[in-house]
Amino acid sequence: MNTSAVTTPAVDDLSVTVVGLGPMGRAMAGAYLDAGYRVTVWNRTANRADELVARGAVLAAGVEEALRANELVVLSLTDYAAMYAILEPAAAALDGRVLVNLSSDTPEQARQGAAWAAKHGARHLTGGVQTPPSGIGTHEFGTFYSGPRDLFEEHEDALKVLTDTDYRGEDPGLAALYYQLQMDLFWTTLTAWLHTASLAHANGIGLSELKPLATATLTGMGQFLDFYTPRIEAGDHGGDVDRISMAVASLDHVVHTTRDSGVDPALPSAVLAAFRQAAEAGHQDDSLTRLFEVFRR
Ligand code: NDP
Repeated sequence: MNTSAVTTPAVDDLSVTVVGLGPMGRAMAGAYLDAGYRVTVWNRTANRADELVARGAVLAAGVEEALRANELVVLSLTDYAAMYAILEPAAAALDGRVLVNLSSDTPEQARQGAAWAAKHGARHLTGGVQTPPSGIGTHEFGTFYSGPRDLFEEHEDALKVLTDTDYRGEDPGLAALYYQLQMDLFWTTLTAWLHTASLAHANGIGLSELKPLATATLTGMGQFLDFYTPRIEAGDHGGDVDRISMAVASLDHVVHTTRDSGVDPALPSAVLAAFRQAAEAGHQDDSLTRLFEVFRR
C-alpha cells in the first residue's frame, strides 16, 4: 500500500467514505457530494465510481486507503458476507472507524457484525434503509438505526444527509429486525399485486384498469389494521365479523379462478393452506385473526 496517499482521519470535517457502489451506494455518495462533503469511495468494480469521480469524489486505490481516509465509513453492500469479504483483508485499518452498515441482512448477522467490528476497534451502527435509491437525499423516507445511542447522536447530522432517521435502540439487531418486518410486508404485498395483475391480464383486463381498484383495496388495508389490531391485542378472535370457514371458501374460489385462467395458483394456494390449517385445528368459526396465533406455532 502507498501510505503517502493516506490522509489523517477527519473527525469534525464534513467527510465520509462510502464502500459499495451499487445503485444505493452511488445514490448515497452522490447525496454527500451534493451536501458538500469530501467523499472517498471504493468499490470492487472500480468503474462504478466513474460518475462520482467526475463530480469530485476520490476513488481510493484500495480498501485500506478508503478506510483510513475518514472516520465515518458508510457500507452499502449486498449483505454482511460482502462486508467480511471486503474488510477482513484490510482489518488493520478499522481501528477508530465508525461503520454505518446500511447493507441489509438478518438481526443475528447485524449483531455478529457489530461484535466483529468491535474486535477490530471499530464502532458499528446498523441501518435499514426504507427507500429505493431515488429517495436518497429527498428526506421523504426514513432509515432504521440501532447501536450505541451516543454514536448515533454524534453522527446523526451526517446520517440525515441520506434520509430521515429512526433510531430503534442499542441492540445492533433492532434496525435489521424492523427492516425485515417492513420487507416481509412489502415483498408479500407487492407480489400479491403482481399475481392479481397477472390474473387480470390473463382475462383481458389491463394493468391501468386494475390500478384504481387495486389502489383502493391496498389503501383500505389501513382500516382493517385499525379494526383488527386492538382485537388481536385483547386476544379476541371472535367470528362475529368474519369466519375462517368463509375465508377457506373464498380463497378456494380464488385458487380455482386462477387455475381456470391458466395462471400459477401457488401464491393463493399457500394462503388457502394457512386458512385450512387453522380450520383443521378447530378454529373454523373464529376470525381470520386467529392466524396471528396459528403462524406462531
Ligand atoms: P447491490 O447488491 O446492487 O450492490 C451492492 C454492492 O455490493 C455493490 O457495490 C457490489 O460490488 C458489492 N458486493 C456484493 N458482494 C460483494 C463481494 N462479495 N465482494 C465485494 N463487493 C461485493 O445492492 P444495492 O446497491 O441495490 O443495495 C445495497 C444495500 O441496500 C443492499 O443490502 C440492499 O438490500 C439495500 N437496499 C436496497 C434498495 C434498493 O432499492 N436498491 C432499497 C433498500 C435497501 P460490485 O459493484 O463489484 O458488484
